Amino acid sequence: MIQLHSDTDIQEHLQTAPNPLILVPTMGALHVGHFSLIQRAKELAGEHGNVVVSIFVNPIQFDRTQDLESYPQPIEQDLSHCERLGVDYVYTPKSEDFYFPDRSIEVSENSLSSLLCGATRPGHFDGVCTVITKLFNILQPTAAVFGQKDYQQLTIIKRLVRDLSYRVEIIAHPTVRELSGLAMSSRNAGLTPDELKLAPAIREGLLKAHELYENGERSADRILSKFRLHLDKSAPHSKIDYLECVCAENLHALKDVDRPAVIATAVFFGQVRLIDNIVL
Ligand code: AMP
Repeated sequence: MIQLHSDTDIQEHLQTAPNPLILVPTMGALHVGHFSLIQRAKELAGEHGNVVVSIFVNPIQFDRTQDLESYPQPIEQDLSHCERLGVDYVYTPKSEDFYFPDRSIEVSENSLSSLLCGATRPGHFDGVCTVITKLFNILQPTAAVFGQKDYQQLTIIKRLVRDLSYRVEIIAHPTVRELSGLAMSSRNAGLTPDELKLAPAIREGLLKAHELYENGERSADRILSKFRLHLDKSAPHSKIDYLECVCAENLHALKDVDRPAVIATAVFFGQVRLIDNIVL
């Protein structure tokens, strides 16, 4: 495995690396969810292709400096996970090398970003679009793998590729879960043992809502009520940040589920905000 820090490293090693080159962008603190994305990238790369994992805690996508400062960065551990998983290249730029101090151009998304998670995190998805644009330009991957857990992010990246004509294939990878059904996330480490027992209620509520849809219900209100009821009963101290049934493509809220749709939610357990979704 080769660790790439700078443009010179990339020119020296990546430009001659045989294609396809499959990128897995991450912010590190790798867990089993990330491992699964990396394994998918390995399969896509095949015997002759290469996998590059980027590990970069992107400062411009954090709206609160405290979150950025407390973001875990176990880099040695992450590198050894990548090595064990057979990753070919790990790209670990330093923030001060990645962004020019007087940078004045940013990629902004003007429609999908104001919804769901974006409603309470202004600027977050512009930060994401900017870092992904730069990663695509720097590394020039054939394809990139993103988790469906971050459904809004995935949708925005697909839009970025479409609107800016990138020739990068976007691969959506299913959400990896604990046995309890809780979506794996580096944030789960912040839950108390009690909260950890209650947090699978998010997945259970989504499954109940899905079941109602499967039984023929098409009213978004009634489908979402099923989720609310379950969460109230099973995790009464949790707090829903948002809960919406949206069009799977443009993320606009639906009254009736008459097209491919997604139920997306963010729920607070104490200070920890967990997101999850289910496709209808
Ligand atoms: P992050 O390091 O949190 O920015 O995540 C890097 C990538 O891993 C993103 O594409 C996430 O959607 C994906 N990811 C994180 N957790 C999971 C999970 N539990 N299942 C699938 N993908 C995930």
